[in-house]
Amino acid sequence: MLKKEEALKGVKLFVLDMDGTVYLGNQPIEGAFEFIREIEKSKDKDYIFFTNNASRVPAVYVEKLHKLGLDVDESKVVTAGDVCAEFLKTNYPDAKVYLNGTRVLEENWKERGIQIVKDNPDVVVQSFDTTLTYHKLDRICHYIRNGAPFIATHMDTNCPTEYGFMPDCGAMCSLITDSTGVKPRFLGKPWKETVEMITKITGYLPEEMAFVGDRLYTDVATGVNNGAKGFLVLTGEATMQTVEESKIEPTCIYDSLDEMRKYLYDESFERKGGRKMKVVFGCDPNATEFKKTLMEYVKQLGHEVIDFGSDDPIYANTAIEVAKAVASKKYDRGVLVCGTGIGVSIAANKVKGAYAACIHDVYQGQRAELSNHANIITMGSQVIGVELAKQLVKEYLSVEWDPNCRSVEKVQRIIDFENEQLGNAAV
Ligand SMILES: [Mg+2]
Repeated sequence: MLKKEEALKGVKLFVLDMDGTVYLGNQPIEGAFEFIREIEKSKDKDYIFFTNNASRVPAVYVEKLHKLGLDVDESKVVTAGDVCAEFLKTNYPDAKVYLNGTRVLEENWKERGIQIVKDNPDVVVQSFDTTLTYHKLDRICHYIRNGAPFIATHMDTNCPTEYGFMPDCGAMCSLITDSTGVKPRFLGKPWKETVEMITKITGYLPEEMAFVGDRLYTDVATGVNNGAKGFLVLTGEATMQTVEESKIEPTCIYDSLDEMRKYLYDESFERKGGRKMKVVFGCDPNATEFKKTLMEYVKQLGHEVIDFGSDDPIYANTAIEVAKAVASKKYDRGVLVCGTGIGVSIAANKVKGAYAACIHDVYQGQRAELSNHANIITMGSQVIGVELAKQLVKEYLSVEWDPNCRSVEKVQRIIDFENEQLGNAAV
């Protein structure tokens, strides 16, 4: 097994499982969306989602992710149903196909030009058919007995739901095999056709891919058995005990995508020539929780965090304390969280050597400049969301502050603007 910081090197495409990896039922897993956003920002890494669940089509997953708070393009989602459709087109061109699958899968395949028939098929496919009936089972067994090749979209026996398990494609195939004596050719994870199709879609070679998921025998096995990497996350089905009992050895095990993100960042952090910083935090008494979340995040990025508290009801005092600490060079950077942000910004700027800039929507478009060239940033917890705050703070801490750089003048202009907007009264 590789070390956590080593394993990510050379990975250009993360093929992410969804259930148990990105969300559990209808709950996003903590930090998973941040991992994805991190990859989206990266110039040399990419991702796609891959799920064996062929009862749904990509559009359904896009909608689900949207409801959970992540917007992705349909092209980012691939299912075992897509792999099977490609497999049929390559290996059984123009064949008449009998499919036991959901209506959405059938419609999707028809759109791709697959000829779906009810009688006299050349090939039969069993999928995760939540509309399965005795009649459908009887038909597929009949066609298999007549010699039609038997293909299954994926091998999963059970599908996890909020209330436990429901029988999946693999279990349906067992019944068919019991009756006919014929075993299906399984597709999806962990089979090589899945890796081949992902290469076809994305252009990445197997050795540039990492399959990431909560199951050893599907997610991890796809990678390690087919020339790619296989990362296990412990947010779903597998535990460390499962790992001990299994013959499949993951390339690496991470607690979660959130933990993986941390190592991802460390790598880019070093590349940028960044360093560990001492970051001092202060806030208004109403923004304590917001500040706590942000501090936790900055700590995870590998920086040292110092809390200047939030006890002082006149938070301008806290701002001045933070500004003095940063101006004295005892600490590298300051972060102030308060109601609107502008007031404390003005207070902090009263200290010589402190350059505080307010980041929120008022200054849209100037964020990058500000985050690189202010030694203190302030933000309004009522204006800025935690996610955006994290992103901006990270950006702000990734570049060395240069007191002689010309952008300081720019910060000064912003400060003047702030003063004009609110005047001293707002402090
Ligand atoms: Mg899973």
